[in-house]
Amino acid sequence: MTDKKGLLIVVSGPSGTGKGTICKAITQKRDDVFLSVSATTRQSREGEQNGVHYHFLSKAEFEQNIKNGQMLEHAVFCGNYYGTPKKAVDQMLEAGKNVILEIEVQGAMKVREKYPEGVYVFVLPPSMDELRRRLTGRGTETDDVVEERLKTALKEFEYIEKYNYILLNDEVDKAVARLEAIIDAEHCRMERNIKFIEEVCKL
Ligand code: ADP
Ligand code: 5GP
Repeated sequence: MTDKKGLLIVVSGPSGTGKGTICKAITQKRDDVFLSVSATTRQSREGEQNGVHYHFLSKAEFEQNIKNGQMLEHAVFCGNYYGTPKKAVDQMLEAGKNVILEIEVQGAMKVREKYPEGVYVFVLPPSMDELRRRLTGRGTETDDVVEERLKTALKEFEYIEKYNYILLNDEVDKAVARLEAIIDAEHCRMERNIKFIEEVCKL
């Protein structure tokens, strides 16, 4: 069999660009993909469930988790803590799942130091005007927070060259298909298939 090891896939990009939409859609389409549930200290939005969309923690709880070494990475984004619980990621990778971390750039850079073999994907909107439309259209943030997130987007763009792929989110279905293509191609990389090559290429 060709590469069956789970990939660690980091998906970043400006707030409102459609990361959540794409990641949710791919997990509904493919059962080999697992989306990590992050922890955060931000307030839950309407419809968000604890343990499903995020683990909603107090600042004290979050800081305790960091101290206990339970976070694979964490960062402060627009005034709130966000972090990836390590245990679930390790378990899913061991089970051969492709694990997606949908995280912002600072956290992504920390993960890259620990997992250079990971796949780093940066989601781009078709334009900044469209990004603003999506962010305001979502209706989950106040005008001030929208402006803060748009300003943060400009800083996040500076990290694009640290990623392996850009993923244009013009239409959701197309973006999901591109992400699937990235995952499938990554499993075909020569260096991920050394054992398979050794098995096949002998008389
Ligand atoms: P993020 O997770 O990057 O913050 P979301 O997935 O919450 O972004 O998407 C932000 C808003 O944009 C949502 O209202 C979502 O329905 C919408 N959206 C996502 N992708 C597209 C797209 N390709 N075209 C139009 N609207 C989109
Ligand atoms: P939101 O508040 O819109 O859900 O998320 C804000 C930002 O935090 C997004 O860029 C999102 O990708 C990022 N984020 C979500 N979870 C994590 C995490 O576990 N770690 C880090 N570093 N960023 C995260």
